[in-house]
Amino acid sequence: MNHKERYPFDRDGLDLRLLRLTRFRQLPDDVLCELVTRDGLCFWVFDRDEMPQPVGDEDIDRRLAAYLCEGCPVADECLELEFRAAGERTTGVWGGLAESDRRAIYATWRWHRDNPDDGSARGGG
Ligand code: SF4
Repeated sequence: MNHKERYPFDRDGLDLRLLRLTRFRQLPDDVLCELVTRDGLCFWVFDRDEMPQPVGDEDIDRRLAAYLCEGCPVADECLELEFRAAGERTTGVWGGLAESDRRAIYATWRWHRDNPDDGSARGGG
């Protein structure tokens, strides 16, 4: 997966990320949380008290998200966890995305979660 696939700024790319999240549908919250806190890059690379914070500018915050989350092995798990935990009130950088991008796709994530028999769940590994 290249950088553009992991950190897409376009809606089509964001929709593809949402489809990838459907594989976590059966994963309990506590398992997801353990994965993210154990393997998430920002949990062991950065001093969390000194991490740069979003400034509220979409472009700058997208770049910040890409910088902070570059190479994180659990970016999709992190995004799924943030949607479950914070929903549309999500703030900050999680899952390699700025909050404006997460809010833009949250309703679609929620729809997939509430409609588990939709086509996206079929044929996956
Ligand atoms: S995706 Fe980003 S915010 Fe989430 S665990 Fe990885 S580095 Fe941290």
